Amino acid sequence: MNLSHRITHLTGTGSDGWELFYRARAMAAQGEPVTELTIGEHDIGTDPAILTAMDAAARAGHTGYAMVPGVDALRDAVAARVAARTGVPTTRENVLITPGGQSALFAAHHATCDEGDRALFIDPYYATYPGTIRGVGAVPVPVAAHAGDAFQPRAEDIRAQAQGARSLLINTPNNPTGVIYGRDTLEGIAGLCHDHDLWLISDEVYDTQVWEGEHLSPRALTGMADRTLVVGSMSKSHAMTGSRCGWIVGPQDAIDHLITLATHTTYGVPGYIQEAALFALNAGPELEERVAAPFRRRRALAREIMSQQNLVGLVPAQGAMYCMLDIRATGQSGIGFAEALLDAQGIAVMPGESFGAAAAGHVRVALTVDDDRLGDALERLCNTARSMALTARQTG
Ligand code: PMP
Repeated sequence: MNLSHRITHLTGTGSDGWELFYRARAMAAQGEPVTELTIGEHDIGTDPAILTAMDAAARAGHTGYAMVPGVDALRDAVAARVAARTGVPTTRENVLITPGGQSALFAAHHATCDEGDRALFIDPYYATYPGTIRGVGAVPVPVAAHAGDAFQPRAEDIRAQAQGARSLLINTPNNPTGVIYGRDTLEGIAGLCHDHDLWLISDEVYDTQVWEGEHLSPRALTGMADRTLVVGSMSKSHAMTGSRCGWIVGPQDAIDHLITLATHTTYGVPGYIQEAALFALNAGPELEERVAAPFRRRRALAREIMSQQNLVGLVPAQGAMYCMLDIRATGQSGIGFAEALLDAQGIAVMPGESFGAAAAGHVRVALTVDDDRLGDALERLCNTARSMALTARQTG
């Protein structure tokens, strides 16, 4: 039986660098020693106090169908949090609770794009973006942000692709680069969204992982609250990746329609998960800082180790749980480098190419193992880069 073109073509064709991730997983499963620095999964679990709240909520009976838009108390808590962080008046009518940020990304594109519409996004990008856009029948259009601009996108490059587009998806703090978009970048983006009547879908799931400068939500810029859908999540801020709890914040009319979509797709998020998320948000900044602290510390460690050599470049990043390394001086592609590193050292990093053409010649290192193992892995990575560069010089 034939399946729909939409689902069989959800991901693009050809190699995208993710083979390496699966190879590393298979090696680890066979007992080979692999240091996995691939995906954005914390090395701590969800805080026991959150689990206790989850258990108590389930035992108190929150195991039936929950309110599709989200329980009022959680919608209120998310609205209050967003209002406090951005200064934009926000109420529960502006909030839909979703099963994680990923389903929020899908719903946001579903709400803004019709079949065949162009949906812009910035390259390098989180790996699911093009498939998410194709999944709603829209056409993914990447706009490159350049290594030479420290991966800050240029408004004029986006503008050049904006004719006939319906939406622009951005992500700050950014996965994979760790870059936080500055006010100038975001004002440029806001301007072109106005000029070309674009929806802005702003993925802010890393907004608690800010190591330098500050995160500015573009919804707070003049006139943007009416055309911005913000995607948020408990995954990264509270180490709740498996709980699948996130949200969309946007104009009430859009949220009303998104609630109808949720009724026909996810039918909401389990009540005990929502209660746990509410507990976690009410626990305040101390818990969030505890979750973020290892990444802040490891970023400093990575900077220190990388500063002791000048072959592998460290992309100057301000946030998120990754660091992006420029390995072009080895003469290798990101994929070639990552494959060789896995073979030679048992260290798995993600090739830049798996996040788009603009990240070619880079690798992304997730800061998700303990400090000693991370330090050791980065030193061995630099050694491997040195011998590769030497071989390239001798043979070239
Ligand atoms: N956006 C970005 C940029 C991400 O890195 C991720 C997860 N790695 C997500 C969205 C989705 O996260 P979740 O569905 O767990 O909220």
